[in-house]
Amino acid sequence: MGLLVILGGGESGVGTAILGLKKGYGVFVSDKGKIKEKYKNVLEHFGIDWEEENHSEERILTADIVMKSPGIPDNVPLVRALVKKGIPVISEIEFASRYTNATIIGITGSNGKTTTTMLTYHLLKESGLNVGMAGNIGDSYARMVAENDYDYYVLEISSFQLDGIMNFRPHIAVITNITPDHLDRYEYKFDNYITSKFRIAQNQENSDYFIYDSDDEVLVQRLKDTPIKSTLLPFSLKNNFEEGAFIENEQIMIRTDMNTITMMKDTLALEGQHNLKNTMAAATIAKLVGIRKETIRQCISNFQGAPHRLEKVLKIHHVQYINDSKATNVNATYYALESMKTPVVWIVGGVDKGNEYKELMPLVREKVKAIICLGTDNSKIKDVFGNVVDLFVETFAMEEAVKVAYKIAERGDTVLLSPACASFDLFKDYEDRGNQFKNCVKNL
Ligand code: ADP
Repeated sequence: MGLLVILGGGESGVGTAILGLKKGYGVFVSDKGKIKEKYKNVLEHFGIDWEEENHSEERILTADIVMKSPGIPDNVPLVRALVKKGIPVISEIEFASRYTNATIIGITGSNGKTTTTMLTYHLLKESGLNVGMAGNIGDSYARMVAENDYDYYVLEISSFQLDGIMNFRPHIAVITNITPDHLDRYEYKFDNYITSKFRIAQNQENSDYFIYDSDDEVLVQRLKDTPIKSTLLPFSLKNNFEEGAFIENEQIMIRTDMNTITMMKDTLALEGQHNLKNTMAAATIAKLVGIRKETIRQCISNFQGAPHRLEKVLKIHHVQYINDSKATNVNATYYALESMKTPVVWIVGGVDKGNEYKELMPLVREKVKAIICLGTDNSKIKDVFGNVVDLFVETFAMEEAVKVAYKIAERGDTVLLSPACASFDLFKDYEDRGNQFKNCVKNL
């Protein structure tokens, strides 16, 4: 079979190593940083050769195929050298998909991937299908393919994974929306990032389906210039379709193959317009795979949602605390603020990936009474909103931020952590940030 080299010894790297080994490859895992103890143990257990804090270039350049982990940019010298030598450099989803005949449902987009993926999985699982959930979520897809025999996979897919595909072909592809994100990896060109997202449909055939938000102008515009062979199934809060998902008389309508499933809009467990859209996408998938309408209705009303996404933490003295730590860009925070029905004490800030905060201005004027910045550099937020709200406070630790929020918030208000930024300045990751928030709130 030849030599499979894996760059990056994380979840997707180790999963690919296991699958590669099972399929008869010689496998070598190389990580420029340190490999986590738990992954080293797995590699040792399977007797897979690995190195850390180094790339043995000579050996790597003898590979027959290379799986590059999503965290490694395309422009590092080693990857360039591989490409120059004509060695295929692919992503985990490309590799793993070669070894399964399961029906693949691929979900990408700038926001809503995890929520839509989890809801879709919930729908398929509850209906009794033999389904696995993987991708950017939970266990690696490659390892699942190595160790299970599912009929369906629901995959949450990042643009980085899509950059490394060749033949990957989901039977059902979803783009939830496209707003600027991760531009540092796309030469700061939004266009390149859009192209990357659309790769999800590049290998689709007539018998496949492409589900997308037709209220998203970026998506609709690009669709005009992109040949897609599969059946297009839009979803929208504004327009009706012959085929697709839309709202009529306060009901969600899912229409495919000339028949329609209806659901009452107010039975959704998840709040907010964005979640209505995520639900439309997931319910369309469910209908396509033939799930009964009773099951769909039941699942969308009892779905619990994912932690750190508009997660209700506690109500203290009639103040609701909400953890939306996963909002790492402006668009996610937009929907969070939009879904607020009370005055808001807003905790915001962190590492800004080139944010345009102005988009939030109308919502901030309407709903936000106080801003609590939580980041090492809050100057941009201060410039934009400093004079817009009654109270503007800078903090540098979660405990401080939560205590200040507690002092400011009055009966009936909501304290919302929705940072619109990444978390690396003060936290390990968004989960650490959200967990610290929840702990601080519980200790009030
Ligand atoms: P992703 O996996 O794409 O990051 P998540 O489901 O984890 O998406 O949600 C990330 C953030 O975006 C959360 O703050 C969530 O409330 C918000 N969000 C979820 N769905 C959407 C959507 N369709 N449009 C905009 N924001 C969304």
